[in-house]
Amino acid sequence: MSLYSSTLLDPHVKAPSWWEESASVHPPACPALEEDAFCDAAVIGGGYTGLSAALHLQRDHHLSVRVLEAGQPGWGASGRNGGFCCIGGAKLSYQAMIDRFGLEETQGFFKVQQEAIETVAAMAEQGLVNLGASGQVGEICLAHRPRRAAGLQQEAEFLRHTFGIEAEWKSPEQLAEEGMRSSLHGGLFLPFGFGLHPLTYARSLARAAQQCGATLHGDSEVIAWSREGKHHRLHTSRGTLRAKRVILATNGYSREALVPAQAGRLLPVLSNILVTRQLSEEELQAQGWSSTRLAYDSRDLLHYFRLLPNGRFLFGGRGGVSGTAADVARQRAWMERCFRSFFPAWGEVGFTHFWNGLACLAADRLPHVAELPDTPGAFTAFAYHGNGVALATWAGRAVAALAAGKDPQLPAPLRQVPPRFFLPALRLHYLRAAYLGYRLRDEYF
Ligand SMILES: Cc1cc2nc3c(=O)[nH]c(=O)nc-3n(C[C@H](O)[C@H](O)[C@H](O)COP(=O)(O)OP(=O)(O)OC[C@H]3O[C@@H](n4cnc5c(N)ncnc54)[C@H](O)[C@@H]3O)c2cc1C
Repeated sequence: MSLYSSTLLDPHVKAPSWWEESASVHPPACPALEEDAFCDAAVIGGGYTGLSAALHLQRDHHLSVRVLEAGQPGWGASGRNGGFCCIGGAKLSYQAMIDRFGLEETQGFFKVQQEAIETVAAMAEQGLVNLGASGQVGEICLAHRPRRAAGLQQEAEFLRHTFGIEAEWKSPEQLAEEGMRSSLHGGLFLPFGFGLHPLTYARSLARAAQQCGATLHGDSEVIAWSREGKHHRLHTSRGTLRAKRVILATNGYSREALVPAQAGRLLPVLSNILVTRQLSEEELQAQGWSSTRLAYDSRDLLHYFRLLPNGRFLFGGRGGVSGTAADVARQRAWMERCFRSFFPAWGEVGFTHFWNGLACLAADRLPHVAELPDTPGAFTAFAYHGNGVALATWAGRAVAALAAGKDPQLPAPLRQVPPRFFLPALRLHYLRAAYLGYRLRDEYF
């Protein structure tokens, strides 16, 4: 049973996203599995994790690969996200990570996140994928209340000292000079990360995997998974696939009943996106926002936003606890209010697109690249905490190495066995309570 409204998991329902309208790469041909087939490694899920795993398994480890995707490649979060290719794959604070794993392992994790961004950029430079990348490099976290500004200044100091990066505090005046005038109160700038077109990237990653020799099957939801000695057999409604190794790459779209070993170890969460009509030069000037940098606010239940290349403005927000029509409408109304309060000059600007999708959290607030517990030959990578564009690509490569019997050199925060939530049936109640706590803290502290 799904934790959310079942329409969210229906692979025949496309997200009504701006990306669907504007992708510059056509969907690759991915016929359904309609036979009893065999391959070295089967991948369940055709998002960045699964497609990157397929590409690397086939190209670097010379294993024959087939991907089974319930919809079409990129149907899940990978084709409908905000396109922030950035760090932030864990929700555990860096200080808590240092306390748990030590400084060196935490630095290793930070480096992986930077490397993940570089991995995506390098694949484009090599001509392997088309990212539809646009905009300035770097991301900025904006203080949503004056008193959060002090915290962000301390954070800049902590990041410089701990990870040796050029984190920088920018005052509201500096931001206005750089084309980021809003009602927010200054921000913490990180000099890496960039914007891309998520669906263009997902489709071209799928094509790249095909060009390397991987076979991709769309409309091929895995509905049962059985064992035959050392082999796994995956069943779809029209065929079966036998393989010695399986990579489970289903993240927030996981069907937990299919994989008891994974059940209760993840928590899908809703993220929502609004896109405005095209803003004119005068409107951009009136607000004083012309920067194409990736931006988000300092809320726990944060908003993320970026000016797209054609003058449309993307405004995203985490939240929503059921995915029902009423829940989604409430979330949209809240986001519209926040958008208009951040950008008062755009009070009358209308939105042309609104959609949502499922990202994924883990109980220990860390991403995981691991062998599936109690399932020899099966591996998984998931829980990027709403920041998987770069990290899922990297994790796909890492989980491919694991499945091929190689050591992907994972830093400790990434190589933990994913724990189960305490009383998993109560996960949505925990989420409701956490969201309420975040809302109160975000609004009053
Ligand atoms: C609205 C939204 C905005 C986001 N914005 C950003 C952002 O700006 N930057 C960022 O870094 N991250 C962002 N994220 C998160 C990011 O999109 C994800 O972390 C990333 O796409 C995860 O990739 P994935 O391949 O692991 O999972 P997904 O892309 O979700 O793919 C999982 C796939 O598995 C398939 N599947 C599930 N079960 C089965 C089955 N039984 N058989 C066959 N197929 C199956 C699904 O159909 C789905 O296509 C956002 C997420 C959302 C929802």
